[in-house]
Amino acid sequence: MKIKCPKCKDVAELSPDFAFVKCDHCNLDISYGEYVKYVAHSDARYSDILGDYTVSTEGHTAGSLDEWD
Ligand SMILES: [Zn+2]
Repeated sequence: MKIKCPKCKDVAELSPDFAFVKCDHCNLDISYGEYVKYVAHSDARYSDILGDYTVSTEGHTAGSLDEWD
C-alpha cells in the first residue's frame, strides 16, 4: 500500500500485513508501530511550535504596549 513517507514526504510502501514501512527515497525502513509513533511525534512537535508562537506573540504584544505608553 502506498503511503506518505513521514520523513521525506515522498511515497513510501506499507507492507500488506501492516508489518513495516519502507521508503526508497530516504531509505526509511521501520515497523508500522514506529511509523505511527513517528507521525504522532511530528504532530506533537507541530503543536508545540504553535503553542510557543502564541505565548511569545502575547508576551511581545504586552511588552510593546508598555513601551509605547
Ligand atoms: Zn522517505
